Amino acid sequence: MPDTIVMKFGGTSVADAERIKRAASRIVKQREAGRRVVAVLSARGKTTDELIAMAEEVSPRPDPREMDMLLSTGERISCALCAMAINDLGHRAISLTGSQAGIVTDTSHTKARIIDVRADRIRQALDDDLIVLVAGFQGVSTSRDVTTLGRGGSDTTAVALAAAIGAEVCEIYTDVAGVFSADPRVVPTARKLPQVSFEEMLEMAASGAKVLQLRSVEYARTHGVRLHCRSSFEESPGTVVIGEDETMEHPLITAVTHSTEEARITLTGVPDRPGVAAAIFRALADANCNVDTIIQNEPREEGRDAEVSFTIASEDLRAAERALEPIRAELGIAAIDTDPEIGKVSIIGAGMRSHPGVAAQVFETLATREINIEMISTSPIKISCVIRSEAVPEAVQALHEAFELSLAEVQRERPIGQEAR
Ligand code: ADP
Ligand code: ASP
Ligand code: MG
Repeated sequence: MPDTIVMKFGGTSVADAERIKRAASRIVKQREAGRRVVAVLSARGKTTDELIAMAEEVSPRPDPREMDMLLSTGERISCALCAMAINDLGHRAISLTGSQAGIVTDTSHTKARIIDVRADRIRQALDDDLIVLVAGFQGVSTSRDVTTLGRGGSDTTAVALAAAIGAEVCEIYTDVAGVFSADPRVVPTARKLPQVSFEEMLEMAASGAKVLQLRSVEYARTHGVRLHCRSSFEESPGTVVIGEDETMEHPLITAVTHSTEEARITLTGVPDRPGVAAAIFRALADANCNVDTIIQNEPREEGRDAEVSFTIASEDLRAAERALEPIRAELGIAAIDTDPEIGKVSIIGAGMRSHPGVAAQVFETLATREINIEMISTSPIKISCVIRSEAVPEAVQALHEAFELSLAEVQRERPIGQEAR
């Protein structure tokens, strides 16, 4: 059987008629090379943002089920238009909604998880020699409602389909040439990484490098999907995400990532007894809010109240506040404060596991720029600092420079401070 590939085009790559035609010809080129093609498309340009704004114009708290009905339309438009363009190039294409493509999700509206892919209709269409276009970012829930997969979710649609149909590769076509050592919009000298391990890519996606949605990386790793992230505007190869055992390079530091789309919640006057943290974070989990860095200050004297702070995605802030209100009364928490102006910078590299000097160098770099660190969290291959959001670009540039990530030759694993040979 010929190779099957999945090609995913992001919003910027299908933003206008010209770009849709360009995506169509790229798809056709693969078909003419003898491959069977499933293409996943995102909504055009800023369509998803515009749809969200439309909902907020009519309702301060849009119903999540109706929100998904609305948001799913953006990717359907792209697919129908691209199918028309492909037909005009003399090939046969069919566009499908997520539901028609057999993407089954749980019932968490606006953040649904894919639980099954029933790809028989896609397989049938491929057997009939059709190019299949699937609307990204959406599925149908186990209670038969339209769902969406969270911002950036078309990446996950593409990976899930690649796994279900056994594609050779899942290609993510986007507006940058691959995965870089930092967001190239913030660091123009950032270096394109020819390959990155799943382990590092997961940390990068989790800490703000939105070039691949976190869930798509998790899904690809679990299902053994080969991911290739590349430019939709030029032909050159991009970044391949590979298993740790296949990695050729073992850099000390691979990338600097950042996020300004987080907020901090601080609870003061929190009773200091067992079960309190459990009640707070259970309420947040039940509201589907993903909590990141958590800091709890122990009271200095026994019986006094504690303070708990944590960060959360800005889009979850309202849901978190609602979830905490009943807990506040129940536990007798004195105050709940929110700070939407925080940002986070993170440094990621599999080589730092065995090198104790990295954290010190990160803190020194931020100190020389007079950037105050408000919270710190770490994993074996990541150090994250919460700082003021306005300081984020400077912090990213300073860290990128301090760890010499622009160099053509990757900084090899070696003790901090030791000169490269
Ligand atoms: P698409 O619409 O194609 O899905 P996204 O906007 O979701 O594209 O992701 C691509 C964007 O991710 C780039 O334009 C870039 O600004 C941003 N980005 C952030 N960090 C990185 C990184 N480390 N490497 C590449 N791109 C990054
Ligand atoms: N259109 C959706 C978004 O803007 C999904 C995606 O682009 O992957 O988040
Ligand atoms: Mg994206």
